[in-house]
Amino acid sequence: MIKHILVAGGGIGGMISALYLRKAGHDVTLIEKNERLGGRLAFVRENGYKVDEGPTIVLLPDMLKGILNEVGIDISSLDLLQLNPLYTIRYQDGTAYTKYSDLERQLEEIRRVFPKEEQGFLKFMEEMTDRFHEGQQAFLEKSFHEKRTFFTKENMRILIKLKAYRTVRSSLKKYFADERLRDAYALQTLYVGGNPYKASAIYSLVSYSEHAHGIYYLKGGYASLVDILENQLQAMGVHVRRNQTVEQFEFEGERAVRALVNGQKIAADAFVINGDYPAALKQLGLHEQDRHKYVPSSGCVMVYLGLNKIYRKAPVHQFFMGDHFDQHMKDVFQTKSVPKDPSFYTFNPSIIDPSLAPEDCSVLYMLIPVPSGNHINWAEETDFVEKMIDRLEKRGFPQLRESIVWKKVKTPNDSLREGLFEGGSFGLAPNLFQSGVFRPQVKAQETENIYAVGASIHPGGGVPIVMQSAKLMASVLLKDLNDRKEVKLSG
Ligand SMILES: Cc1cc2nc3c(=O)[nH]c(=O)nc-3n(C[C@H](O)[C@H](O)[C@H](O)COP(=O)(O)OP(=O)(O)OC[C@H]3O[C@@H](n4cnc5c(N)ncnc54)[C@H](O)[C@@H]3O)c2cc1C
Repeated sequence: MIKHILVAGGGIGGMISALYLRKAGHDVTLIEKNERLGGRLAFVRENGYKVDEGPTIVLLPDMLKGILNEVGIDISSLDLLQLNPLYTIRYQDGTAYTKYSDLERQLEEIRRVFPKEEQGFLKFMEEMTDRFHEGQQAFLEKSFHEKRTFFTKENMRILIKLKAYRTVRSSLKKYFADERLRDAYALQTLYVGGNPYKASAIYSLVSYSEHAHGIYYLKGGYASLVDILENQLQAMGVHVRRNQTVEQFEFEGERAVRALVNGQKIAADAFVINGDYPAALKQLGLHEQDRHKYVPSSGCVMVYLGLNKIYRKAPVHQFFMGDHFDQHMKDVFQTKSVPKDPSFYTFNPSIIDPSLAPEDCSVLYMLIPVPSGNHINWAEETDFVEKMIDRLEKRGFPQLRESIVWKKVKTPNDSLREGLFEGGSFGLAPNLFQSGVFRPQVKAQETENIYAVGASIHPGGGVPIVMQSAKLMASVLLKDLNDRKEVKLSG
């Protein structure tokens, strides 16, 4: 029987959920509080320039394409470019280390920059291959809304094999002697807002995956995926309502029966929350019992620049390391103070994509990991951004200041206003006790028919992983609808 399902939020998680549920034949309404869909997948636009506001690094291409294909998108029309080299890491001492997706080229680079470390790298890749395969099947492709399905002997064996009890940074000692190389394979936890000195070694699989599965760029920018998905929502007949907020649910017992949307009541058989989970629960007046305090991911200060020239020699992705990466991580995650010597990431897509800026001009994006929370008034920290632009100019983009046509800055204060939990950019931090079964699951506890999807939900943050959470959520929700039907039929 056709049911009505209401999805609250049109981020990547909400859109993919709506498509899966519609594909299964249900009547789906997607409500988005903003004028545009996409959530964190967005562009900053200014006078003929556009630059991705959030995601830039396309990882796990097979997962991404597989899910898009399942929801009916013609993936042959996606203009995905594989980047090789992947990116360059620049250290304060002048060393530059570039990563590649082919092994021989990588070994050559290691021999050049970190002689005697080749064997360690080979061992890292070899051990991670097997771990990735097992980890993906055991944890990325399963939901743990029924807790007992997590605590099996087999899963415990895999967790031990993945060295889940160690941290990413400490697990790398086994493979690399040089601290700089350890940093090069640990910093990826920051992609999901995690501290490499604290995040479980499970997350080492990210830096492995970059080499093994590649890094891609979506022509037109990662956020151009939003238009593609929006067309598909329309083609499949999902009812999309923009500029409307899901304010509250009405219950009959443990069953939600109606949502209050801009003061209007909408009845549905099931509801999906796509807002950043702990913050969304609060906004919707829901609360979980027996819950410890959640820990947010790191925040970001983002600097977006429109330039009147193109830095053709600067790679698409670069990381500029500060003198003391460990101190930067302490500032972000422990003392939660404004970092004095932060490492940062830059995105220079115009060298491969002329569609982003007027002719001979370019866009540049700088991401600086900073503490989440609202205790720092970033409007008063104007010096911080100016110093960072000076560093950017000095370390990789000569004569930058005189090339700037426009500049926009975004801080954790903005992210908090937009509804992200404690202003963290990536949802809940990827700590061991907020991963796997310990992360909020696709089915909200204590209700019969409220589900959740997004970066703060298992399996976690990042575009393809959130899409995977939508897939898991849809399968649990559809199974529940079926089970209910079976109960009715047999009754
Ligand atoms: C700076 C930055 C860089 C990143 N870089 C990468 C990267 O390189 N690669 C990568 O894969 N990932 C990256 N990410 C992570 C990625 O963007 C996120 O994991 C993903 O986009 C989150 O999608 P989501 O569906 O969980 O949530 P969101 O994108 O936050 O969407 C939630 C939506 O719900 C709406 N909403 C909330 N509450 C309501 C309500 N009550 N009623 C109606 N609507 C509501 C919101 O307005 C929003 O549109 C980055 C993120 C940031 C911020």
